[in-house]
Amino acid sequence: MAPLQELLKSSGESAKRISAHSHVKGLGVDCETGVVRDVEQGSEQFCGLVGQTPAREAAALVVDLIKLKKMAGRAVLLAGPPCTGKTAIALAISRELGRRVPFCVLNGAEVYSSEVKKTEILTSHFRRAIGVRVKEIKEVYEGEVTELAAEESPVPDPASGYSRSISRVVIGLKTTKGTKTLRLDPSVHEAILRERVEVGDVIYIEASSGTVKRVGRCEAYASEFDIEADEYVPLPKGDVHRRREVVQDLTLHDFDVANSRPTQTFSEDNDVIAVLNNLSRPKKTEITDKLRNEINQLVSQLVDQGKAEVIPGVLFIDEVHMLDIECFTFLNRALESNLAPIVIFSTNRGICTVRGTDMQSPHGIPYDLLDRCMIIRTEPYSKNQIQRILSIRAKIESISVRTLEPLACENENGEEGESSAIPDDALHILATVAERTSLRYACNILTPSYILAKVAGRDQVTAQDIHEANALFLDAKSSAKFVMDRSENYLS
Ligand code: ADP
Ligand code: ADP
Repeated sequence: MAPLQELLKSSGESAKRISAHSHVKGLGVDCETGVVRDVEQGSEQFCGLVGQTPAREAAALVVDLIKLKKMAGRAVLLAGPPCTGKTAIALAISRELGRRVPFCVLNGAEVYSSEVKKTEILTSHFRRAIGVRVKEIKEVYEGEVTELAAEESPVPDPASGYSRSISRVVIGLKTTKGTKTLRLDPSVHEAILRERVEVGDVIYIEASSGTVKRVGRCEAYASEFDIEADEYVPLPKGDVHRRREVVQDLTLHDFDVANSRPTQTFSEDNDVIAVLNNLSRPKKTEITDKLRNEINQLVSQLVDQGKAEVIPGVLFIDEVHMLDIECFTFLNRALESNLAPIVIFSTNRGICTVRGTDMQSPHGIPYDLLDRCMIIRTEPYSKNQIQRILSIRAKIESISVRTLEPLACENENGEEGESSAIPDDALHILATVAERTSLRYACNILTPSYILAKVAGRDQVTAQDIHEANALFLDAKSSAKFVMDRSENYLS
């Protein structure tokens, strides 16, 4: 069993959860000609998407419209069978708009709650998809951390179960010009833990609020074999105590939540700190329309003063046919408001009933809303395309010969000299499985097949591993058949 344990150990703490779409970087459409560039994996320009050419070209046009600010009152509808990349394309659209653009996902079924109104859920998601970038010049202490220690208080604290509480946090900071040792309030300790600050990191601490922000790892450590593909930053110049532009990416929803607490109203002097400090505390009261209006005014004031910038993001509503007529009516109006994000719907339904009515309509969306949508179709993939997508996923899930040193595979674009542990013939078989079942199912058995190969003491996944993994798990269709065949054994 050793290889398996090694594999698990090696993917220990440093491994991040791999999301299903982490390979998607953009649409991969040439901005001058508007034509999809078919770039092979491994190249700099590779965007992570395969095939789906007409849909990607249409999506690129939508990106142009958004950039020209011509999308007001309109929405995008991605319609196509399951697993045809609708979510992937929506994400790619948001990536094309910029790295800081918020991407907020709402599943149609999430609006049904017995406690919160449907329109309230929709409104809060609209506001989650609108970014507010706050910039302020603040007094900070900035430098490379040379010392990090927590002094315990000499007397045990009854409040914290007689364990020693922390009385002081000592931080040494270094810049090109000098060093400074700060003795700070214990509340900073939590912030330091949250930001995972270590000796050798460059951080800054806001003088007025004590907010700690990790900027990156100091360049002096760039040669060390670092586990996380970290961002290296130069040793700060100038004094430790200085003024610096502090940038924070928030959403309108963050502002709402921060100010919805009953005791806390927004302070007169537009102190953004009040908002930021309240972010971590849980929400207490309902967010009213009045509060939202106040926040809107506040944000527009900040924008006028040059302290903030509004960044409309993307709201992706998956399974839109799950919404009902009340939601659709609300959306119709919300799309026209001047603070609306880009709304992208996705559905895999054909003609069906609009919930809450007995009206039949394409995609279960009423005609008036459908009218506002720019509809983009996605098509099922060919076997060859499926194979290419699986090969990208295999790279991302670090299924390669050097995986026992996972550090080398952190580079998502795939490093040179690293060969895939799934040879083409095995991928081909997996693609056949995907054709019969679904692309998502095939993605799901990628890593299991690799573990099976490892357990058998092999570095390369063979056809046999794939068949074995396939036999161990049931795809949706066979599972349904299985249950049907043995219906007498199941409760119904
Ligand atoms: P849908 O939303 O249509 O059900 P997804 O976008 O969730 O499908 O696609 C399923 C999986 O396949 C995801 O992991 C997705 O990233 C991947 N995928 C789908 N289409 C492509 C594509 N054209 N190129 C690369 N990966 C894709
Ligand atoms: P309704 O509220 O009946 O659904 P709208 O008032 O939203 O329709 O009209 C749809 C679009 O057509 C809007 O862009 C509107 O400005 C435009 N429009 C409708 N009627 C006229 C008109 N008589 N003259 C100019 N533009 C119009």
